[in-house]
Amino acid sequence: MQKITIAIDGFSSTGKSTIAKQLAKHLGYIYVDSGAMYRAVTFFAMQQQYIDDKHFDINALVANLHNVAIHFKLNTETGNADVYLNGENVEKQIRTLEVSNCVSRVAAVPDVRYQLVRQQQEMGKEKGVVMDGRDIGTVVFPDAELKIFMTASAETRAQRRFEELTNRGDDVNFEDVLRNIQERDYIDSHRADSPLIKAEDAIEIDNSNLTLNQQFQKVLELVTMTLENLE
Ligand code: C5P
Repeated sequence: MQKITIAIDGFSSTGKSTIAKQLAKHLGYIYVDSGAMYRAVTFFAMQQQYIDDKHFDINALVANLHNVAIHFKLNTETGNADVYLNGENVEKQIRTLEVSNCVSRVAAVPDVRYQLVRQQQEMGKEKGVVMDGRDIGTVVFPDAELKIFMTASAETRAQRRFEELTNRGDDVNFEDVLRNIQERDYIDSHRADSPLIKAEDAIEIDNSNLTLNQQFQKVLELVTMTLENLE
């Protein structure tokens, strides 16, 4: 069967990666979490002390971007791909609230975007890929056969992220998580380079009141329709 490219964009914590992973497993496609790549660069910048809550030495990061190598490797325990930064598995470290608090500033830097977008395009060039992020349908794969734009209320999203972080043992409070989501939404949609916007041909799904299964069935219908239209 013909393989397509599926681009899933949307605001933070709208469940993009959940649906993207489900779809990729179901279709036998590759799943790429583009946000993990921005998080890995951010983790690198934090390790090198180029960025913290108060300062950001953009020039130092840009000058050292050639020292940042990111790749994904299948974790046989979880069945998902973990992200590696310079050979080290950083899957857990990149998901902290500290990284979340810096990542949107790093992701607004054009040189960072340039490097990661090229790598993402390379990963998807054979099609058969589900990629989620903020600019997948607009910049990375503007010709994707199926584009989905996910939304949900900020409170619903903060509750989901809060549960995810506390379930894995992180000590966070709900207000901080909500504030982080609102800040990232703002920066991601107002930056000059590749702001988060819904592609004209993207289909919007608000999943505030959908169960995971309802959402999956809905998206699967869209995939089937897209594949039928190609025949
Ligand atoms: O998807 P996730 O929430 O892990 O992404 C973290 C951050 O990375 C986003 O808030 C955004 O600033 C940035 N990002 C981006 N473009 C993408 C994916 C993520 O700017 N394609």
